[in-house]
Amino acid sequence: MGTGYVGLVTGACFADLGNDVQCVDVDKEKVEKLRKGQLTIYEPGLEELVKRNAAEGRLQFTTDGAAAAAWADVIFVCVGTPQRADGKANMNYVFQAAETIGKNIKKYTVIVDKSTVPVGTAERVTRLLKEITTVEFDVISNPEFLKEGAAIKDFQNPDRIVIGTESPRAQEVMNHLYGPHTRVNRPILFVKPQTAELIKYAANAMLASRISFMNALVPLCERMGADIKDVSRGIGLDTRIGPRFLQASPGYGGSCFPKDVRALVDVMESLQLNANFFRAIDQVNELHKKSHIARLLKFHPRLAGLTIGVWGLSFKPRTDDIRESASLTLIEQLIEAGAKVIAYDPEAIENTRKIFPKIDYAHTPYDAVRGASAVVVMTEWDVFRNLDLDRVKSLMADPVIVDCRNVYDPPEMTRMGFKFSGMGRG
Ligand code: NAD
Repeated sequence: MGTGYVGLVTGACFADLGNDVQCVDVDKEKVEKLRKGQLTIYEPGLEELVKRNAAEGRLQFTTDGAAAAAWADVIFVCVGTPQRADGKANMNYVFQAAETIGKNIKKYTVIVDKSTVPVGTAERVTRLLKEITTVEFDVISNPEFLKEGAAIKDFQNPDRIVIGTESPRAQEVMNHLYGPHTRVNRPILFVKPQTAELIKYAANAMLASRISFMNALVPLCERMGADIKDVSRGIGLDTRIGPRFLQASPGYGGSCFPKDVRALVDVMESLQLNANFFRAIDQVNELHKKSHIARLLKFHPRLAGLTIGVWGLSFKPRTDDIRESASLTLIEQLIEAGAKVIAYDPEAIENTRKIFPKIDYAHTPYDAVRGASAVVVMTEWDVFRNLDLDRVKSLMADPVIVDCRNVYDPPEMTRMGFKFSGMGRG
């Protein structure tokens, strides 16, 4: 239930393992497109997987949640849990899906929360279903750890599978379903439902904290001439720390880290627990996301009337997802400052156009710098690593590059005649 990033990937991948899958969504347009083989999101490898499994009859798309609930042995709830204005996770979609399930199941069914939900949700949904149905069921938690851009790979080769249930019957079903993974030694952890729910929030908060940790050191590096890339390597080689998720960046975004960190803060504070540590992760990120315009202002104290190129719109490479992307914050500031923005991204232009219909969009990275007084690198798509930089320079009105992803080498850029600012590069 829910055929967005998580639902479509989960559905297509379980179908590919030989299961019969019905992907349900309330969005008619989405279901119609998927039935025609048109993908609604960009995710490497997904289109081929969806088309093949649909053609072979294992994967179907429907808006009929009632029929699908009655038919299924296992139901994965993959609906959105977006952030509400007060920071809490919006649980309406989860409860609506639960109601559809409760009203329609006819036999023992395992209901799996794959959406990221506050601790205690499996228990809450169990209570809700018991009011609706007398049919046997188990509500369990199986948090999703996929990374957008590598979602298929992550499904096929997960670091771990976390299953939150104390029901032996549900454990058996999940062991069977994930058999292809466990047979090749992927670890499966059976824990209590509330532990599984917390593992998901803790994992995202830990990853977000590493990003905010490095970004919080950026101003100090810049003030003292230290290089954040070397700091990152210097600490990452410590095996207790490890090298991943230690890159300075324009700030984390996406549909998960920002809302999940805030939801964790909300849950803790609603229980009168001290959430200062987790609140700080979010605060550092929000401040950092707003700081990049200052890098441009060092080169051009007045941005009004200037053309500024923006390379990268998605919150990270290999996805078209722009939710809470630092690029959006920057573009908003540029528009406010009166600059003329030309943006380029390999996949995320269509999504961005819905938010900023009036800025210009380029077909190539080169078109985004034509006549520009600066270009800002906001997402480290591979295409930006291998550009003809002499051509870039010749197209620009003023060869200013602000590299918020540390894609380029500062001395090399200076040698080539660019006016250059990296992120925490001293
Ligand atoms: P999404 O917004 O892309 O998709 C959610 C889908 O659910 C939408 O298509 C919506 O129409 C549908 N929906 C809403 N109510 C429904 C209902 N009652 N019945 C059927 N469909 C319904 O969201 P997403 O990015 O796939 O995330 C889903 C959940 O997984 C969230 O809780 C998210 O936090 C979590 N998660 C996401 C990722 C990620 O990288 N996107 C990774 C891990 C976990």
